[in-house]
Amino acid sequence: MKINVIGGGPAGLYFAILMKNADASHQIKIYERNGPNDTFGWGVVFSGKTLANLRAADELSHAEITREFEAWDNVDVVHRDTKVSIHGNSFSGITRLQLLKILQRRAEQLGVEIEFHTEIHDIESLRKDCDLMVAADGVNSTVRLLYAEQLQPELDLRANRYIWYGTNQLFHGLTLTFRENAAGVFAAHSYKFSPTTSTFIVECDPQTWDNAGFDQMSSDETPEYVGGVFSADLNGHKLLSNNSKWINFLLVKNRNWSFQNVVLIGDALHTAHFSIGSGTKLAMEDAIALAESFKQTAKTSEALAQFTKTRRPVIEDYQAAAFESMQWFENARQYIHLSPIELAFVLMTRSGRVGYDDLKRRDPEFIRQYELATDLHG
Ligand SMILES: Cc1cc2nc3c(=O)[nH]c(=O)nc-3n(C[C@H](O)[C@H](O)[C@H](O)COP(=O)(O)OP(=O)(O)OC[C@H]3O[C@@H](n4cnc5c(N)ncnc54)[C@H](O)[C@@H]3O)c2cc1C
Repeated sequence: MKINVIGGGPAGLYFAILMKNADASHQIKIYERNGPNDTFGWGVVFSGKTLANLRAADELSHAEITREFEAWDNVDVVHRDTKVSIHGNSFSGITRLQLLKILQRRAEQLGVEIEFHTEIHDIESLRKDCDLMVAADGVNSTVRLLYAEQLQPELDLRANRYIWYGTNQLFHGLTLTFRENAAGVFAAHSYKFSPTTSTFIVECDPQTWDNAGFDQMSSDETPEYVGGVFSADLNGHKLLSNNSKWINFLLVKNRNWSFQNVVLIGDALHTAHFSIGSGTKLAMEDAIALAESFKQTAKTSEALAQFTKTRRPVIEDYQAAAFESMQWFENARQYIHLSPIELAFVLMTRSGRVGYDDLKRRDPEFIRQYELATDLHG
């Protein structure tokens, strides 16, 4: 089979690896606009459950990925200078660039061709030239745009803004920090992903953003200001920019996931708010599901139908949970009057997927403290 993949992110690379591993006679070429060492952002997180899926799909890359991991089991909620830790939530973090390097090496070792520094403009010619064209070209997918009539994307640009920084302050666990100033309410999502660095994503509502005057600030002034908001948490460390810019989260869905010999995967197909930390996981699990479909039938149309049938319910479920989580952060202002432990409880149960009983099982001490605090209030 001749396969053209647009986009050498986690979805495109991993799909190429799995297909080539299943059948070395496939001719697979990945087109990537960036170079092998360019990347945006800092680290990404995986849940414990993802790892079992990655091991089952390709043991070699799984071994390399997990060797680089920073692992933890706590979510920390910081509010009014008080940290509340909730244990029993298994996560691991890795530098995005390191993850990509591992996948690039594995793909090339298997004989996948990767053309770096190649931006695809003539998508239709590439489509005609293969049996299967995989659009793994990310959240702003040009393939999705070109074939909008066939794929029928549904795009929802949300009002909150976020900016993705790094910092050398180490956050041991997924740390959700809330800070208020005269402009409004800020939330930071942070976690350590290497021995020296943490991801530090800051989110705020449009009112806060306007009040702070970010539209007038330079790219040097913004991290200074944001670093000031979180100075008590950063312990003297600066926020590190990697061409970091304020962005509005784009919620992506598509009515049709494929047509003829074209299929969307990863962020091009769907997004889930970063507060549930599963974009990379979903992208790689799409690759697994699509490769599995081709194991069952070599006929492209049947495999693509099978992919949609098996994968759509899983994605819809994640997107529903992520939507609740995203809305919670969009309305964080409403919860800021709560005490730290009450805030931690509503935050942990925000998606409707984790309840009182789950928390009690995962971390009985947290629930004991919560009950003590809420009894005192009552
Ligand atoms: C602030 C923020 C924080 C996040 N945090 C996490 C996290 O903690 N955990 C997590 O799992 N995920 C996280 N994510 C999500 C994660 O980054 C994405 O979900 C994941 O990278 C999706 O993988 P992908 O392969 O589908 O797309 P991408 O990684 O975006 O890859 C797409 C690739 O396609 C290339 N490309 C696009 N168009 C073309 C073209 N025309 N020609 C050639 N190449 C092209 C791009 O250069 C890019 O390399 C976060 C995202 C954001 C924005």
